[in-house]
Order: sequence, then structure tokens, then C-alpha cells
Amino acid sequence: NHGIGVLTSGGDSQGMNAAVRAVIRETLRQGHRCYLIREGYTGLITGNIDQATWEHVANVTHLGGSMIGTSRCDEFRTTDGRKKAAKIMFDRRIFHLIVIGGDGSLMGAQKLKEEWGRFGEELFAEGKITEEVANEGRELHLAGIVGSIDNDCIESDKSIGSDTALHRICEAIDGLVMTAQSHQRVFVVEVMGRHCGYLALTAAIAVEADYVFYPEIPPDDKWPEQLCHQLESVRKYGKRQNVIILGEGVTNSKGMKIGGKQVKEEIETRLGLEVRIATLGHLQRGGAPTFLDRLLGLRMGHEAVLCVDKLEVLKTTEDVGSPIAGQKTVAQVMCLRGHNIERNELSRVIRQTETANEEMQQRNYD
Ligand code: ADP
Repeated sequence: NHGIGVLTSGGDSQGMNAAVRAVIRETLRQGHRCYLIREGYTGLITGNIDQATWEHVANVTHLGGSMIGTSRCDEFRTTDGRKKAAKIMFDRRIFHLIVIGGDGSLMGAQKLKEEWGRFGEELFAEGKITEEVANEGRELHLAGIVGSIDNDCIESDKSIGSDTALHRICEAIDGLVMTAQSHQRVFVVEVMGRHCGYLALTAAIAVEADYVFYPEIPPDDKWPEQLCHQLESVRKYGKRQNVIILGEGVTNSKGMKIGGKQVKEEIETRLGLEVRIATLGHLQRGGAPTFLDRLLGLRMGHEAVLCVDKLEVLKTTEDVGSPIAGQKTVAQVMCLRGHNIERNELSRVIRQTETANEEMQQRNYD
């Protein structure tokens, strides 16, 4: 009988509740104890933890946000903070942890995993935990689930929440197009995504936008001319409105952020068109999850429990046949590959994400 804890951390995303539901139901079905860790890593440090029952997660799959709360927790960024969290986990005998969050949350989980053995030894030496508990919790079994509207996990085709966010963006823009058409206006729509252009680019295609800015390919200094040329040419063919999508992390060739106000001013000065800025903001994270995000959350939550329960069964293509299989627990992340949920080593996923971000920054400033 294990104690399996689940938390949501960082930015919330639609579908997290489905994942929490599957974690709890599968954990209980396997005969283990399940713990709801509230408010992300903050709850892990303060001990804001409840033992979950089957009924805790009745009627939650259709809800957006995170029913167990999430947070940004600066204290968890420190070794002392993570050691406090470890002490709480030893006290509650929670040695299996499922973290649902974005890349920051997964990085925090990886650090806890790396320091776990040392924390156990120190806490025992300091007389804060018994030898029996220290031995029982020798290994931290850890699984990560990527919950983020940004879809910025390099190893997973989809993160939980990105499908719903895209639906929200498309719906909002469909509404804007009608009013834009009536007044012959241009709308600059600012969308989320941080350093990842997935939301900006795919939404632009789906709503037939006239121009898109996204961080992976930063616009060169001639963007105002190119943009205005594009607007002029589609207006010539009778188009009465224009939609321009501006991704969140877009910078110019000098690394300066390009904002909606700047885009608006360039168009108004050069073309004399009426321009409005629409910042969709947190509406993108709101609302009920789509079917795809519900299903993805449920599947990943289920797989994460199987993963921490029997971590020696490594399923990723890369890890099969690895000499470490069956000898040591390796923290893993649930990833969607095509139609399948696969597991990838957490440290590898973090490394890949860091490398991709560094390469992008390098390219942007070259
Ligand atoms: P997201 O998980 O959505 O990317 P953040 O980047 O804000 O969101 O991370 C969420 C939380 O994860 C942070 O508030 C912090 O508690 C923890 N975290 C993030 N980065 C680290 C890090 N490098 N070391 C330890 N903990 C971290």
C-alpha cells in the first residue's frame, strides 16, 4: 500500500481536473492511499494535504481550472523549501508523487528527485524522521504530466489545455471578425504561449488571419512594410477586415518585445486604417475543457499512476533494454506520441526543453 500524492502547479490549464480524477480513481482502485496536495508546491511545503476519497472527484471532468488549487511558489525554488516539502512527505509517508504542471513545475520536481536521497539522510541524522521511515522512503517515485495551454513540451505532441485554449481563441476571433467587418477595422489579437508559437500559429491558420507574429521566427526589421503590404493587397481584393495574431514572446531583431500598440501604430501611420487591439489574456485559460483535453487528462492521469506504482517497467522506446530498467526508479513524464501515451525520462525532457529554448534565443539574437 503506497501513498500517492498529486498536485497541480504553475499556470492552470483546462483538463487538469480530468487528470486529477484519473489519478485518484486509479490509485484507489489499485488499493493505495491517495493524497490531494493543495495549492501546488505551497501545499507540499505547508502540509496543506488531504487524503482523497472516491467522491472527491465526482463531477469534475467538465470543470476548467484546477479543483485542488495551483500556485507559483518561490520557496520551492530554494533547497530549504524543497527540504521542508520532503519532511512533510516523509511524515505523511508519501513517497510517490504525481506533478501536473508546465516546464517550471517539472523542473522543480526534477530537483526534488535529485536531492531526495540527501534530504532523507539529513532528516534522519537531524533526528527528524525515524530510521524506519527513512528506509521506507529511500526512493521517490515521481511522474510528471504536462498541463499547459502553451503546448511547449518538446517531447509531447499535446499538453493538457492547449486544445481548449485554441478553441477559446478561435471563438473569440470569430466574434471579433463580425464587428471588424462592419467597421472595416483591423484587429491585432494578442495571444498567450510564452516562448512557444503553437497557439499563435495554429490559431492564425484556423481563423484565416492575414498576418502572424510568433517567437520561433522573429520578424526582421522590415516587418512593418511587409505587414502593411499584405494588408493592402487583401483589401484590394475586397476584404473588409483584417486579423493579425501576435504571439506573446515575440521579439524584434534586437531582442525587444513587439507589442500590440507598436503594431497598431505602424498600421495606422502607414495605411490610415482603424486598428483595435484585443488582448485575450486569461480567457484563454478559462472555460470548460474540450473533449480532447478531458480525454488526454484522464489518459495521462491513469498512466501516471501505473508509472509511479511500478516504475521499473519502463515503456519508452529509448528506455526498453536499458541496463537501469528494473534497478532504479527514474522520474518520467507522460507524453503523447501520435495516439499513444508514452513515458519519457524527466531529466531528458527538461534537457531537451532547455536546449530548444537556448537554441531559439541564440537564433533570435544572431
Ligand atoms: P509552469 O509550471 O506553468 O511552467 P512556473 O514556471 O511558474 O510555471 O513554475 C511553477 C512552480 O514550479 C514555481 O512557482 C516553483 O515553485 C516551481 N519551479 C519552477 N522552476 C523551478 C526551479 N528551477 N527550481 C525549483 N522549482 C521551480
